[in-house]
Amino acid sequence: MSRADAPETLDLVQDLVNTWFGRLSGGGDEHLRSPADLARWCREHGVPVADEAVTTDELELALDVREGLRAVLARHNDAVQPVDGPALDRLEEIAPGLGLHVSFADDQPGLRAQDGTSVRRMMATLLAAAVPAAHDRTWHRLKVCREPRCRAAFYDASRNASGVWCSMSACGAAAKQRAFVERRRARNAARRAAS
Ligand SMILES: [Zn+2]
Repeated sequence: MSRADAPETLDLVQDLVNTWFGRLSGGGDEHLRSPADLARWCREHGVPVADEAVTTDELELALDVREGLRAVLARHNDAVQPVDGPALDRLEEIAPGLGLHVSFADDQPGLRAQDGTSVRRMMATLLAAAVPAAHDRTWHRLKVCREPRCRAAFYDASRNASGVWCSMSACGAAAKQRAFVERRRARNAARRAAS
């Protein structure tokens, strides 16, 4: 990916969403196939969890959070993409059960994860990161690529926040190529109709 990294607090959100993204050649790479994969992902992000400590329910939870977030972030990238209503609804269902609470630790009021398993706390921390990001206007810069085969999360650091693809050279070029082919097809059809 050629885009700038998201600010630190949103990094985790971006990284979770990008445990799956599609390939332009078709299909995609799933990095969370098993509870052990999720445990490894947690460890890579500084949370020590043993492989056997993660349950299949927690894997399901993480995947629901991931797809809910993908649906949310897709809304930051104009109205071209269909809204994934079921994924958004699922996220709304999950969020209250994660035990977020307002903490005044260090006189920095904020949402914090309550006690729970490591995975649940991590998901709660991830969702809580959206709140301050919405205030400092970084949240709306975290987007899902407009290319329907890709759907990767990227951080749009451009001045006017107008980026739509995760990568101009890959997804942007694919869209331009498609637009070119469509224009040519339309032109040829118009020519045929005229002759
Ligand atoms: Zn892309």
